[in-house]
Amino acid sequence: MAHTEKAGGWQHASHEHPLKGLDGLPIYIDTFWKGPETASRVLVICSGTHGAEGLCGSALQSQFVEQVPTLPDDVAVLLIHGINPHGFSHVRRVTEDNVDLNRNFIDFSNDLPANEAYRDLDALLNPVDMPPGAIEAIMEKVQALQRSMDFLSFMKAISGGQYEFPQGVQYGGAAPVWSRRTIEAIWQDLLGQANIVVQIDVHTGLGPSGYGALMMAANPDEPHKKVTTEWFGDMLVTPRPVSQADTILGGYLNGGLEQQLDKAWVIPMTLEYGTEPPEIVLRAMIEDNWLVHHGDVNSALGAEIKGRVMSAFYPDSDTWRDAVLTRGEQVFSQALGGLAELQREEA
Ligand SMILES: [Zn+2]
Repeated sequence: MAHTEKAGGWQHASHEHPLKGLDGLPIYIDTFWKGPETASRVLVICSGTHGAEGLCGSALQSQFVEQVPTLPDDVAVLLIHGINPHGFSHVRRVTEDNVDLNRNFIDFSNDLPANEAYRDLDALLNPVDMPPGAIEAIMEKVQALQRSMDFLSFMKAISGGQYEFPQGVQYGGAAPVWSRRTIEAIWQDLLGQANIVVQIDVHTGLGPSGYGALMMAANPDEPHKKVTTEWFGDMLVTPRPVSQADTILGGYLNGGLEQQLDKAWVIPMTLEYGTEPPEIVLRAMIEDNWLVHHGDVNSALGAEIKGRVMSAFYPDSDTWRDAVLTRGEQVFSQALGGLAELQREEA
């Protein structure tokens, strides 16, 4: 049951998670809505799909609220804050079930995707023991593996998602997790009237440091590509998966929204900010996975690893944070301007 109130022109609701946060206090997904309830066009900005990446998206959402944007007619904004509140609080990318939420939006009544290449890597990426020097040895093996494979095969193996090893990395789950079920209810509740929805899901940890790349899955014949190139300029557009078996492109939150709003035109985008080089980010993910399943989060090593996870997804750098905020402001204002144009063209 959501608690709802109105503040500063925003309609706020919070959805309490069944577990507590790191400090023992309740944790929530919060939604903030501004604009007419009947708006046919909605800009949705999401944070914390990968929990530890939530600080960045949260800062962007806060900035958006502080700037008090004037909304075009018939346009509303929905901020969804902390989609994976447990991972956000516990400084993990994944949910309380060790699930990468961005691999969980698949059809679990169908055959689950098989990531055969990951199968051979699980023992390497998911070790039981982590004595001094072990993580460096793991990373050397990962880099040797990368040199022996083409880029796409390597990415599929390491980060495509897998549904066989619940304690492994990039685990997609065995069923829809709490965060998925809750956000699906939020979408159903708030977006049922919309004809056009632009969703921007904010992430960190991939790409050049401080650079915010816009990404989208769309086939060449879809109108998304042309429209969004006009709005945003350069974007990374990848083709859609041809089947659920194509794991590297499946299971995304954005795809979940498209499936749910099958009568609306959904423009599903990711805003991904680079932080550290990929081997540093991957190292932090492997160490954190080991720490939670086999180590002691409250030990000195636990604190060191959590520090590395934090800096991999939210660098302690004013330069980085300034660049993030500037880019976010640009992207959101381009999206709002674009939505207003679409309205005028249709009128
Ligand atoms: Zn992410």
